[in-house]
Amino acid sequence: MECEKCNGTGRIQNPPDPPHPPTYKRCSCMLKQDILKNVERGMKGLSNFPKVENSPLMEVVDKNVVVTAGREFLPHLRHVAVRMPPSWNFKITSDAELVTAWLGSIALKGKDILDADAYMVSTKYVTITDLVTPPDLLIIKMGVKTARNQAASEVLAEAINLRTHPTINRPTWIWEEPHHPLNSGHMFWSDQLGFRLAEEFSRVKDLADPGGVKKPGAVKKFGIKGSPIKKSRKTLRGGRE
Ligand SMILES: [Zn+2]
Repeated sequence: MECEKCNGTGRIQNPPDPPHPPTYKRCSCMLKQDILKNVERGMKGLSNFPKVENSPLMEVVDKNVVVTAGREFLPHLRHVAVRMPPSWNFKITSDAELVTAWLGSIALKGKDILDADAYMVSTKYVTITDLVTPPDLLIIKMGVKTARNQAASEVLAEAINLRTHPTINRPTWIWEEPHHPLNSGHMFWSDQLGFRLAEEFSRVKDLADPGGVKKPGAVKKFGIKGSPIKKSRKTLRGGRE
């Protein structure tokens, strides 16, 4: 059935203000459509993921978090995205894409690219800045990059630096896999990165599956086995408990 307010046109004329030509505003019936369009812009197919009743991610839309989750992350992301305005600019990138962007800037300087993934380098993103700065929320999926690169941890640290810089100051979610956590055994890990995460990031884990088999997840302090700053380097490198 057509919307009665706009007769299905999706727009409503503002009060006339002669001699100016008529202006229009969007009808509220367009909102749902616009939101779904935005959800799909962020990730194709995301709007079709199953519904979850609630999500701890709603509490951290404007916060820096490390989310430990498998595929159940996506229904939770859908839950958040359909509740945000259509103008909400969220972006999913990956650890691999960050390195690729970084390699791209090296290639531009005419240096040799020493990386097994070099074939992916394009001019699509000229620098990491171009890739990570614009989104309102940047989601970095870890575990996509498999070929080792010496600069990996610096590249991730640079992305976080750019996001948390006072002139940008926008939230970042780092999405790590439960069986491949971002710790001392991870290609992107460095002690310095660990300090940053401990100071500026919270942790979200145990997200409920759609259908609610697990308990809803909870937001906690990131923490690396107690207070990382007081721990010795040796302990930090000790891996998971
Ligand atoms: Zn309408």
